[in-house]
Amino acid sequence: MLNTILIAVVMMLILGGILGLGLGFADRFLKVEADERVEKVTELLPGYNCGGCGYPGCSGMAEALVSGEMDSILCKPCKQDKKQEIIDYLKNTPGPDGNTINLKG
Ligand code: SF4
Repeated sequence: MLNTILIAVVMMLILGGILGLGLGFADRFLKVEADERVEKVTELLPGYNCGGCGYPGCSGMAEALVSGEMDSILCKPCKQDKKQEIIDYLKNTPGPDGNTINLKG
């Protein structure tokens, strides 16, 4: 009986160690680097999530702007000063690849 419990404990420790190594490996080598500019651009957009730009919400529009999918800010509710702030921010803030984005006005 004691032998069975000891074997079960050892097996759980080995299994925990293997799974921990797997998680450590995944964290180190499979990490997707997020572009922090998406969050900042989302904050600068109006936040109405109306879908008028063709994206499901402001964060979708921000991702499109940062990824280069869109080259101008097609958001009618966004005021001109905020649009200019987004343009200046993306023009002066490099992404993880070191590149900046030049949007049309
Ligand atoms: S049109 Fe503007 S406010 Fe509406 S979802 Fe798109 S970015 Fe957001």
